[in-house]
Amino acid sequence: MRQNRQIIAITVALFLVLLSAVLYKRPLFGELSKATLFGMQIAAIAAFLLFSAVNWKCPSCNKSLGSNINKRICRKCGARLQ
Ligand SMILES: [Zn+2]
Repeated sequence: MRQNRQIIAITVALFLVLLSAVLYKRPLFGELSKATLFGMQIAAIAAFLLFSAVNWKCPSCNKSLGSNINKRICRKCGARLQ
């Protein structure tokens, strides 16, 4: 559950970054300024980092689980993760 949400968050963030990169080269929806596209990328990354900080931590001790997405057991307290 937690892991699925994290994977979705990574996918969405990557999609938004790629989308703004594509729009930068081919303005499909009319002319978007460089500042707008740059802002989109920053917003996508910021939202992802914020979501990760909230979602990706141990449910029992609240420590961050680090960068390993496949982690099953909390390194700090040994709690099993779903
Ligand atoms: Zn823990």
